[in-house]
Amino acid sequence: MHKSLFIPGPVNVRPDVLEKMATPMIGHRTKEASVLQRSISDKLRTLMYTKEEIILSTSSGSGLMEAAVKSCTKKKVAVFAVGAFGERWHKMAVANGIPADRFDSEWGQPTTPEMVDEALATGEYDVVTITHNETSTGIMNPLAEISEVIKKYPEVIFCLDTVSSLGGAKIEVDKWGVDICIASTQKCLGLPAGLALCSLSQKAYEKAKTVENRGLYFDLVELYNTIQKKDYQYPSTPSLSHMFALDYQLDRIMEEGMENRFNKHLEQAQVVRAWAKKHFDMLADEQYASNTLTTIKNTKEISVADLNKELAKRGFTISNGYGALKEKTFRIAHMADTTMEEVKEVLGVIEDILGL
Ligand SMILES: *Cc1c(COP(=O)(O)O)cnc(C)c1O
Repeated sequence: MHKSLFIPGPVNVRPDVLEKMATPMIGHRTKEASVLQRSISDKLRTLMYTKEEIILSTSSGSGLMEAAVKSCTKKKVAVFAVGAFGERWHKMAVANGIPADRFDSEWGQPTTPEMVDEALATGEYDVVTITHNETSTGIMNPLAEISEVIKKYPEVIFCLDTVSSLGGAKIEVDKWGVDICIASTQKCLGLPAGLALCSLSQKAYEKAKTVENRGLYFDLVELYNTIQKKDYQYPSTPSLSHMFALDYQLDRIMEEGMENRFNKHLEQAQVVRAWAKKHFDMLADEQYASNTLTTIKNTKEISVADLNKELAKRGFTISNGYGALKEKTFRIAHMADTTMEEVKEVLGVIEDILGL
């Protein structure tokens, strides 16, 4: 039986979007491919509130996260972590031999503008990475405030992980001064996994050109240059199937209205938060709680694994806590094309199973 997914990626994909994945192939060096890729970039610029270039990558989002630190760091990266995905960004830097320091918040708390200011004021760092929406702890960082601080350090390249928020919450790339803003298709954009995307500022591009050993597949300079030279085509064969579906889904998002979509997730989050507080508790400080998923503290010490087994029998699945938060928390996603009706339904089924 197919289970309806309430996990923070991959998400349920609408049948009409899935159908676009089955579009007959075209050559990746054709005019049609150029038109398709340019069309996606234009629509993503709207969704990301940016005038900068868009890069598509046939990989998951992690590929571009690694690309960002590898392509832009000459001195050292300041990685701000509010959960597992921040930790992973630090690991990526270390694994590539890139000097990096990690600045952790207590899990459930945000990165603060003060923390960022204090670190960047040392002058040790030329790249900063921030997680917009941390999918392990359910934190949505206060980017308006954090970005104001980063703007005080114009020599620093600002990389932002919006993997679990782009398309589900407002991400103002140019207003916030983000140089590289990264997302994947399998979360708020509502597509299968396999394609990632980022914005790339002219400033980040110019900086990357001066960095050695950027690799090749994930070299942002190579990707950018090829797009310019070959009319939006890519150095290697991209997942055109994802591109057909993404182009279509971006039209649907624009038809729905970006603000409507962002508000829809906020309203769903409010319902799940109220439910969490009634029956359990939330892990995140509510002031900084994510709009696209909720991490619930397992205050009743239920077996989350058993709950998911029971849910599976009824055609649903939620997420256990991530990493060290396994069984201590569980997560309910309310992203992509999930409706309020579906959110309320899964909460009702959980109540029924647990006898709440
Ligand atoms: C899912 C996720 C990632 C990893 O993205 P992949 O597409 O799986 O590589 C990174 N950061 C956050 C916040 C995520 O939710």
